[in-house]
Amino acid sequence: MRLDVVTIFPEFFAALDVSLLGKARTSGLLDVHVHDLRDATHDRHRTVDDTPYGGGAGMVMKPEPWGETLDALLADDDDPLVVFPTPAGTPFDQAAAKRLAGERRLVFCCGRYEGIDQRVVDDTASRARVAEISLGDFVLNGGEVAVLAIVEAVGRLLPGVIGNPESLTEESHEDGLLEYPSYTKPAVWREREVPAVLRSGDHGAVARWRHEQALERTRRVRPDLLPPE
Ligand code: SAM
Repeated sequence: MRLDVVTIFPEFFAALDVSLLGKARTSGLLDVHVHDLRDATHDRHRTVDDTPYGGGAGMVMKPEPWGETLDALLADDDDPLVVFPTPAGTPFDQAAAKRLAGERRLVFCCGRYEGIDQRVVDDTASRARVAEISLGDFVLNGGEVAVLAIVEAVGRLLPGVIGNPESLTEESHEDGLLEYPSYTKPAVWREREVPAVLRSGDHGAVARWRHEQALERTRRVRPDLLPPE
């Protein structure tokens, strides 16, 4: 999969050199290109923001550097999905991660300040597929952290990125439930014992216990995930 990321803080994406995604880059499973939006400015101060029309606090990202950068990135006729992270977008979840993992190329546009001039999104949508995606109902300072989270959630779904693909199926949100609690050795730690059923060797009993625990946790923490009774 090819990823292009446009940002005024390319250094954020050094995190993609680390751990499993770093290995995926080295092995060629992930082809990441980070672009500095300021490279498409033409004034001495490399300006990317200006005051908002209509007034109000904060600055808005100017359309020209975005237009020039996206023109270059969308010149190839390979039908990428262009992602604008924004708290005003549709919520990101595991189903969205799976959809994005099916794409050949993703182009991420990291907003800063009060966001990007809306005409950039509209102009891009007139010639490419666009998704406005929110990481959750909170406001970050910029799109970089949101993009890192999305790339990690998507990247780990790509075939070959996770060593044992089975570990992807037994996870929270895979079967609509939160995951059951996990334990490792030692069997007793600070007088807390690992549940006996997990040490019983009875695979059926373990599976039933895990399902009950997953249901109980989901009911307690995220009842909204369960179908109405
Ligand atoms: N004024 C915007 C609003 O109220 O919707 C928030 C702008 S925010 C300070 C700056 C940038 O951070 C946004 O353009 C977006 O790229 C990113 N961002 C902030 N919160 C986000 C979220 N929950 N999900 C995805 N991106 C987010």
